[in-house]
Amino acid sequence: MNKLRTIPSVDQILQDKAVKRMITQYGRSLTTEAIRTALEKIRSEIKSQNISPSYSHIIDQIKNQLLTWTTPTLVPVINATGVVLHTNLGRAPMSKNSIKAIQEVAMGYSNLEFNLEKGNRGSRLVHAEAILCRLTNSQAALVVNNNASAVLLILTALARRKSVVIARSQLVEIGGGFRVPDVMQQSGAHLLEIGTTNRVHLSDYEQALHEKPAIVLHAHRSNFTISGFTSEPELKEIVELAHSEGIPVVDDLGSGSLLHTEKFGLAHEPMVQESLQAGVDLVCFSGDKLLGGPQAGIIIGKKELVDRIKKHPLARAVRADKLALAGLSATLLHYLMGEAELEVPVWRMISMPISQIKKRVKTWQMDFGWGEIIPGKSTVGGGSLPGEILPSYLLAISVKNPQSVLKQLRSVTPPIIARIEDDKVVFDPRTILIDQEEDFKRGLKKVLGSYLN
Ligand SMILES: *Cc1c(COP(=O)(O)O)cnc(C)c1O
Repeated sequence: MNKLRTIPSVDQILQDKAVKRMITQYGRSLTTEAIRTALEKIRSEIKSQNISPSYSHIIDQIKNQLLTWTTPTLVPVINATGVVLHTNLGRAPMSKNSIKAIQEVAMGYSNLEFNLEKGNRGSRLVHAEAILCRLTNSQAALVVNNNASAVLLILTALARRKSVVIARSQLVEIGGGFRVPDVMQQSGAHLLEIGTTNRVHLSDYEQALHEKPAIVLHAHRSNFTISGFTSEPELKEIVELAHSEGIPVVDDLGSGSLLHTEKFGLAHEPMVQESLQAGVDLVCFSGDKLLGGPQAGIIIGKKELVDRIKKHPLARAVRADKLALAGLSATLLHYLMGEAELEVPVWRMISMPISQIKKRVKTWQMDFGWGEIIPGKSTVGGGSLPGEILPSYLLAISVKNPQSVLKQLRSVTPPIIARIEDDKVVFDPRTILIDQEEDFKRGLKKVLGSYLN
């Protein structure tokens, strides 16, 4: 037990030169806390393993403890998976202008709720609303925290203690715990389920309307397709029928696209403009899926309904913050000015010419002197275009233990997230931002250099 006595006291350690530097960097209170924690660990090491820790070992432990406590857990990563809207990797990367707009608003004060013309209180709701209305030709708009809260808010404000018609083929789970039926239940609305898993007919809607529901909800299936013996009426038919009974139709588009996805060789993703043209009363969709902006839930449509939603107390609880509003407005401007394909990273990735992808993989291969170029598939993800793929070229590496290579790639800074295909580790250039290319090459050389040389 003598060895325990050789441990210096907290006060003694506080006089150490290196520790004094830690105090300057991390503050006295946190450093003292780290010293206590490190000494505690060392005491138990002595007891259990009967070792004599050196003084420098103690100082290292303190430094490591401080690093553990202060290193951010949320960090940028390099997405080499080829999944453009990867929910686990933060969905849409934002455009330069959107980032700039967020930065400007974050750095100081803003007119978030201040009317500059009149010099009195204004509303945060005006900021993205005008652009949204112009862009989609709709009467009114409201931006909330995310699309899940948009759905919850719409149902709570318009259908609490009332019934909502929904087809069984649309009672889906989107992922990350978002289940359309659960959210509907949370709002206090009663579900009026119609049709079967694969088929719903206009007559099913007609019958349900006899129950005098508050709304008819249409939800995008997002992450799966149903095929075979299936049928669903056209949105326009549902709207005409519901309107003949004076009942509004709400369309949860999930991703919602403002551009034609066919243009990029993909299937048709339902567009916000199409839902409005079909006569839908309210459309809601995410800000950070195919729109390519910050996390947000966007509600657009009839003024009378949007106004009712805005007044509901829950609207305050799920409101969008100033950073999201700034980023969203800047993202929407790209669409308004017809430059979304060039400026919004999500669309730049989707529209990336295959020749350019091949060229990028070739330069990597030349630079590394290893790896094989194989044709592959990128996907869009983010609850849009299920089953659709974008042809790509991948750099493929054959290694003994691909799982352990993936793990090592995740441990470099910034971490590289890749995938395995046919036992090879593969890298898809489509989702690697140009600004990250040097970091990507450095990380890859660090991890794979030792395997392949
Ligand atoms: C993704 C999705 C949601 C949830 O949107 P968040 O922005 O992630 O909250 C809701 N409905 C549908 C149909 C979706 O695809």
